[in-house]
Amino acid sequence: MTPSLHEPERIAPLAVLPVFYRLGGKDALVIGATQAAAWKAELLAAAGARVTVIAPPASDPPPSAAVAPEPAVRTLARRWEKQDLLGMALVVADVDDDAEAARLAAAAREAGVPANIIDRPAFCDFQFGSIVNRSPLVVGISTDGAAPVFGQAIRARIEMLLPDGFRRWAEAAREWRPLVQSLGLPLQGRRRIWERFVDAAFRSPDHAPSEAQRQALLASAANAGSASGRGRVSLVGAGPGDPELLTLKAVRTLQSADVILYDSLVSAEVLDFARREAERIIVGKRGHRPSCKQGDINALMVSLAAAGKHVVRLKGGDPLVFGRAGEEIAACREAGVDVEVIPGITAASGAAASLEVSLTHRDHARRLQYITAHAKNGKLPDDLDWTALADPAATTAIYMGKLVVAEVSSRLVAAGMNPATPAVVVENATLKRERRFHSTVGAMASVFAEHALDGPCIILLGWAMSEARRGDVGAPADPAGTHGGD
Ligand code: SAH
Repeated sequence: MTPSLHEPERIAPLAVLPVFYRLGGKDALVIGATQAAAWKAELLAAAGARVTVIAPPASDPPPSAAVAPEPAVRTLARRWEKQDLLGMALVVADVDDDAEAARLAAAAREAGVPANIIDRPAFCDFQFGSIVNRSPLVVGISTDGAAPVFGQAIRARIEMLLPDGFRRWAEAAREWRPLVQSLGLPLQGRRRIWERFVDAAFRSPDHAPSEAQRQALLASAANAGSASGRGRVSLVGAGPGDPELLTLKAVRTLQSADVILYDSLVSAEVLDFARREAERIIVGKRGHRPSCKQGDINALMVSLAAAGKHVVRLKGGDPLVFGRAGEEIAACREAGVDVEVIPGITAASGAAASLEVSLTHRDHARRLQYITAHAKNGKLPDDLDWTALADPAATTAIYMGKLVVAEVSSRLVAAGMNPATPAVVVENATLKRERRFHSTVGAMASVFAEHALDGPCIILLGWAMSEARRGDVGAPADPAGTHGGD
């Protein structure tokens, strides 16, 4: 298999298109004398529109807010007419019935004005989402009318996540942008400056960006200038599968990637976190199946970085555990390409977390050992230290053990290990389709014989595993089989 340019769907179908519409200096029309209409008038005025409210003369006096003297809002006490729509950027109306809604929607369409008729989605060209306001940073949330309360709850979460100070950072970015543009740096150089800016914002969101920080940013621009257009490689741990187990740093790095070279073990859910525009190339390393040669992967990675790209080499689990990261780091160093490593959660940790069991134990597991049961030739490595592996006071995590489990089992028992020592097999650890099988060192091969385990499997063995969560073996195997196996 050669590296293949994988073109997955970049984006799933969208119920609505979120756009951010600048209303400053434009005219907007609000029709209706209700509180809801008044609130929309206020919202549109806050977004800079010149708002005209047409409130038909009612028997009841209109609610006070509708006639409150908003500087940018003028109120006309009469019925709306077709001509009122001319030249409007948009119209929002609260009307009594569907017939009126239909008339207004038709008039708006004729005038080419997008319309929102409050609480009548069938007549709406656009909707208002829930808003998180850190202007100029604005977040809009829509459920396409499916679940407004859900949307508001999500808004509350995002409110918590976004420090208020981001408003000042976003303002600073706007002020500093012309300066950065004027430096005439290539795209890569500018991106680096803004990455530094983002780092600073996340580090001290509650402090207003200072003059000193601005100076430092511009000084770093000078350096970025000399290193202009230089690509780099980030070796990133994707974790065992559940995207929630990505580190914040991994997510941020995925967001700034130009190209992503990923293994088949990396789940689709994790790839969803990548920058949409990033090119994705599967370099499908799967034990026991045809895969890209390591040398080809190294060459591709280095040549893309040499061409100025930010290459993310995305690997399952932790790149530093059975990931051949050493060879990739060496290839980068040799080619003079900058490389950084972002660790991930290794399969053993993910599986132990699912089992709610500690890998170490003060009484019966003072040593934790990770082994690969897969040598270069695909067979059991012949230099494994069986005495150490049979140590009753250790926990052993066996990676890539599927094909050699029977031999591992008999060699351990031959080395003196009690065949009743607990062994747990976890397939697809941390993914929704995870399955867990409780067995023993003596019997663990039968787990693989009796169940079709297509996903990646890790075996954890040792007396510490006697405290592993029992019961539910997990969901049936994923029929789509989207996750690479070993
Ligand atoms: N760097 C990875 C390991 C790569 S070797 C890490 O740190 O986890 C590939 C092996 O890891 C697989 O054969 C399997 O034994 C194990 N593995 C990876 N992801 C797994 C998962 N979600 N569930 C169970 N085992 C997994």
